[in-house]
Parts: sequence; structure tokens; C-alpha cells
Amino acid sequence: MDLSFACRCGALSGTLEEADASDGRKMVCYCRDCRAAARHFGVLDALEPGGGSPLVQVLPARLKIAQGADKLGCLRLSPKGLHRWHATCCGTPVANTIGAAAFPLAGIWLPLLSDRDGIPGRTAQVFTKQARPRAQAPRRDRGVFWVAGGIASRGIGALRDGRLRAGPFFTDDGEPVAVPHVLTTDERRAAYAK
Ligand SMILES: [Zn+2]
Ligand SMILES: [Zn+2]
Repeated sequence: MDLSFACRCGALSGTLEEADASDGRKMVCYCRDCRAAARHFGVLDALEPGGGSPLVQVLPARLKIAQGADKLGCLRLSPKGLHRWHATCCGTPVANTIGAAAFPLAGIWLPLLSDRDGIPGRTAQVFTKQARPRAQAPRRDRGVFWVAGGIASRGIGALRDGRLRAGPFFTDDGEPVAVPHVLTTDERRAAYAK
């Protein structure tokens, strides 16, 4: 089953293929970095209670951009931070990718999807120690090993069928398709504001 996705303004859109595949992993990341990125992009309203970013980890190759690929921008909170992909038209996060293109891991911004419930399975909670103290904030991590299991099965599957480098975020040479913008000191201060 494929799910459609679009940024908030609709200029960047496409499909997440095989959205119901069993290796997809829904997770909420409560880390400060994801929250800082959400603040920078102006999407704090989409976070879970306690400041968690709703994501689903999939093979990047499953994300097919049909329209607005030229709107794809790349942000790094620090020079060596994750590549945080977003729609430059309206600031909607798209996905974060870990490290270089060689490792197939993308955490898709869940609110991007037309039907969040189209992704099966439970939802893991990670970095809950960094959650903001709120009544509904989770107190402990949940499903960390389950997420790691998804990473392992995806990595092996991708190795087997040669999809390691495929996906909309990196060229065949492993270069990001958009020049990453690293937060300036001022932007960084604003993004990490309490
Ligand atoms: Zn947009
Ligand atoms: Zn995070």
C-alpha cells in the first residue's frame, strides 16, 4: 500500500511506497536536536506532548517525490549533524537521514503523510530523558530494540537488492542533493531556546 504525502503548502508531494511493510518503525523522538529543528522550521504545533517529533523510519528508497523535488532543502544543526531534509517552500520537515548515503536510514516526518494510521505497528519512544516535563510526557524509552531490529532488517534487505544508495536525498556519488545549510550562531540560539 502506498501513502501520499505533501508539505503544508502542497508544493512538494509524492508517495511513500509500501507504507504498510513490516520493517517500517513509527517512533517519537524526544531529543533536543529534533525539537530544535522543529522550532527552526516552525512546526512545534505538530509535536507530541513533551516535545516529541513523530517519525517513521523507512528505507529512503521508498520515498518517491513526484512534485517539487527542487524544493527539497537540507539543514544541519551543526557541521556534523544529521541531514534534516525539509520543504523550502513552507518549512515542512520531510525526513532526517543519518550519516552518509551509504547507510539506508530515513526518519520520515509523520505529519507529512496523508494517513498516519496507514503505518502499522506500535510506536517507539526514544530519548525520553530529554522530553520536556509535561503531564503527558513519557517517562521512559519504549521499543528501542524493536527500532534497532527494523534498522537491521532494512539494512540487510537493502544490501541484498542493491538499494543502499537509492532514494531522493543523495546522488549516486553520495552527495546530498541540496547544499546543507548549517545553523548560524543566532539561528542555533533561537532553535534551542527553552
Ligand atoms: Zn511547501
Ligand atoms: Zn531526535
